[in-house]
Amino acid sequence: MGKCDFRVGFGFDVHRLVEGRDLWLCGVKIPHELGLLGHSDADVAAHALSDALLGAAALRDIGYHFPDSDPAYKGADSMVLLAEVCSKLRMAGWEPVNVDITISAERPKLSPHIPAMQARIAEVLGIEPDCVGLKATTTEGLGFTGRREGIAAQAVALICRI
Ligand code: MG
Repeated sequence: MGKCDFRVGFGFDVHRLVEGRDLWLCGVKIPHELGLLGHSDADVAAHALSDALLGAAALRDIGYHFPDSDPAYKGADSMVLLAEVCSKLRMAGWEPVNVDITISAERPKLSPHIPAMQARIAEVLGIEPDCVGLKATTTEGLGFTGRREGIAAQAVALICRI
């Protein structure tokens, strides 16, 4: 154990936008003509946050704990995986303090959905909604997010000793 009772972690994820899939972000189904492709529900924001929490506790990453080669995780609800990540943290003696997420997407407009996403994350992490920062940005038409080929998410998490 280190000298400090707090740790910070960072997570990053990208998923491709395709037709014929639902768009899930932070456990909220967002109405859109495209959805994210993945072995699970491809909730890119939940994945970035899971990696931030695991990273803070030096507990590897979600690909390590929930391999996409495992049929058990096909179509998995990423909020269930996030809850499992929180259990792993607690078993290791840590709990989340606050988190901050940025989602990069050209479309759809996410701002109407931010309060619902904050509430879902807060519920799963067992923290107050005012401890869940959630921001949406475009990349001004640049890169794969700007071309609407995919959505990227980045997250940081602060954890403390229980
Ligand atoms: Mg992912």
